Amino acid sequence: MLTHNLGHPRIGARRELKKACENYWTGKISQHELLQTAQQLRKANWKLQKEAGLDLIPVNDFSFYDQVLDMSLMLGAIPPRYQVLQEQGVSATDLYFAMARGYQKDGLDLVAMEMTKWFDTNYHYIVPEFYQNQTFKRCSTKVLDEYREAKSMGIPAKPVLIGPVSYLLLGKEKDKDFDKLELLSSLLPVYLELLRGLEKEDVEWVQLDEPFLALDLEDKEKRAFEYAYQVIRQTFPKLKILLATYFEGIAHNLQLASSLPVCALHLDLVRAPEQLEKVINYLPEQMSLSLGVVDGRNIWKNNYESSLKLIRLAVEKLGKERVFIAPSCSLLHVPYDLELETEENSALHEVKQWLAFARQKLDETVILKELADGNTSEEVDRKFQENQQAVESRKTSELIHNQFVKDRVKAYEQAHANRKSTFTSRKAQQQASLKLSLFPTTTIGSFPQTQEVRSWRRQFKKGQLTAAQYDQLIEEETEKAIRWQEEIGIDVLVHGEFERNDMVEYFGEQLLGFVFTQNAWVQSYGSRCVKPPIIFGDVYRPEPMTVRWTSFAQRLTNKYVKGMLTGPVTILQWSFVRDDQPRSETCLQIAYAIRDEVQDLEKNGIKIIQIDEPAIREGLPLLRKDWDHYLNWAVTAFRVSAAGVEDDTQIHTHMCYSEFNDIIEHIAAMDADVISIETSRSQMELLDAFADFDYPNEIGPGVYDIHSPRVPTTEEMTALLKKAADVLPASQLWVNPDCGLKTRAWEETKQALIKMVEAAGRMRELVSKPAV
Ligand code: GLN
Ligand code: ZN
Repeated sequence: MLTHNLGHPRIGARRELKKACENYWTGKISQHELLQTAQQLRKANWKLQKEAGLDLIPVNDFSFYDQVLDMSLMLGAIPPRYQVLQEQGVSATDLYFAMARGYQKDGLDLVAMEMTKWFDTNYHYIVPEFYQNQTFKRCSTKVLDEYREAKSMGIPAKPVLIGPVSYLLLGKEKDKDFDKLELLSSLLPVYLELLRGLEKEDVEWVQLDEPFLALDLEDKEKRAFEYAYQVIRQTFPKLKILLATYFEGIAHNLQLASSLPVCALHLDLVRAPEQLEKVINYLPEQMSLSLGVVDGRNIWKNNYESSLKLIRLAVEKLGKERVFIAPSCSLLHVPYDLELETEENSALHEVKQWLAFARQKLDETVILKELADGNTSEEVDRKFQENQQAVESRKTSELIHNQFVKDRVKAYEQAHANRKSTFTSRKAQQQASLKLSLFPTTTIGSFPQTQEVRSWRRQFKKGQLTAAQYDQLIEEETEKAIRWQEEIGIDVLVHGEFERNDMVEYFGEQLLGFVFTQNAWVQSYGSRCVKPPIIFGDVYRPEPMTVRWTSFAQRLTNKYVKGMLTGPVTILQWSFVRDDQPRSETCLQIAYAIRDEVQDLEKNGIKIIQIDEPAIREGLPLLRKDWDHYLNWAVTAFRVSAAGVEDDTQIHTHMCYSEFNDIIEHIAAMDADVISIETSRSQMELLDAFADFDYPNEIGPGVYDIHSPRVPTTEEMTALLKKAADVLPASQLWVNPDCGLKTRAWEETKQALIKMVEAAGRMRELVSKPAV
């Protein structure tokens, strides 16, 4: 039995890589220093994994920015617009960063390559660009260099590459009327060249990641797999290829997977433990099986007993020689080391006993092998006992389990998810009570979080400001925002969210069942890292969370101030979620907590309440067959959070970066009175889904992009609104930006919103005096 790891986090225990990259970009350190930091990080990772006792250690899992971008360079898939940099002799490192981040220098303005989410994770990769008749050539020897580097240190290294089929499927065609899979035959020779280089170095195992093998595949994609692996096998009859799948099971592609001429297949047994038996029965004689039993996507301790059941099943059928033990996927998606959480008197301290981060997961992998191998030494036995105790205490701990919350969720009934009346009736009541004009204007919630506002929060946390002082500063800032919105004539105001650090953290900090870490960073994209909250227990809201600030703002004005909440699905999606109950159940618990908040806002005179759900679409399962199940519980959770109010209280929701076409009926089923969406970048194209569906409720299609400081013109926004009014009745439309404004500066925000209000005014004129 061999143990291995599929990939290790590369940002460094203290985010050293982030800091080095950012310092390099701003010219504070030299390229040499950057490369040195990178080398130290690689070495530290290898050493760590070797000491943990792994048999095979991944190399080429390091990346300055993204492993898909690394592949694009190794394969020479460099979009034509960057050629000028190569001609000018810009260094390989700078070319790489230019592709990732764009290049604005020396009169050049090259846009960055697109970035998108890596499957269902919160990691973002750089999307390869493909052109018809594109050729490939080896432009970087990264994998060879890193393999040599590791070998020279005596590391039992296993190079990792994204497999050729997944690489193509991850990319996007930039020419019309051609299929990226047509490029496979010109792409493969470069793969062969890379593999030849590795073979010359006497490499034993090479890991090719083919996550697409776990997804829904079309016939032509299946053919591509067959072809690619045939060619690789024919060229290298002796090279041992480990084909890695993850994030889903492969049972639905089993025939294909087991027909591929590779030496080993890796399965994600955390996502899909039920696939094991089927796969074992199907596995050809010469193929080994790598069991991904340690969760690479979440931060919970492994349950040794359950993992051992799977391992023993495999060993029994296949024999020890054909079984590998590993994390379920690359550990890129979990934080570095639990031991870095040192604060003794934090809530996390008590929860730590149930957690394992990347470093701990290495140990778990090795211990599982020892246990499966029948090692009965005192140490191994002690670790097993400890594990059992942790598992047991998690089942019963009062920290985790709250009977009130459990009973409440159990007592869920359809009525909790339904508003009192239908939308048509609510709309009439809301019109009568709110008396808003046509094309009402509003914003999505946050106003600029200036350095100053952030510094108050920092000072408050450090004790340099008292609570009273901090509150006063936030009050002043809120009041300024209210006055200013009144002045420019916005119809539905917001308080500005100045008191919030982050739209999930702010709520998590006030809910029971959440803990926060000090150092548990995971890479989101490039040098950007996030520190997701950990939902470890039943979720309960001990006290109102937003009433203080919302009603403060409401008392300042006669206009409506919109209450602003984060929805249950988004809170779930952007956290590490407990794995001892279905996600749907945790989501429903959060939904009831938000429902309480919604009702408290209503009681305190707030007539319009927005529940943000920007993450609802990204929660979609990878396999189409699972969509309905997810959408049903996600939509139910949203409805439960919203439905506890009177008919004349208006519920808004907001979503950004969403493609709506294939989920529009579920969006409609959320039954929010008003939904605001991001539409400006697509020139209102995203609205078509709503028009085609005859979406009944009200909609605020974003009229300007908030991602850049550019101030749109009144004409532009009016034109977009006219487009919207062409496909939807005016009585359904709201006017708002694409998303919240917290990343913007006041200067551009003010100008843009003044013009937005103007654009709404023009629309009202147009509608009242229709052209004859
Ligand atoms: N209300 C939030 C804000 O305005 C919404 C942010 C989001 O959609 N991501 O910042
Ligand atoms: Zn948004």
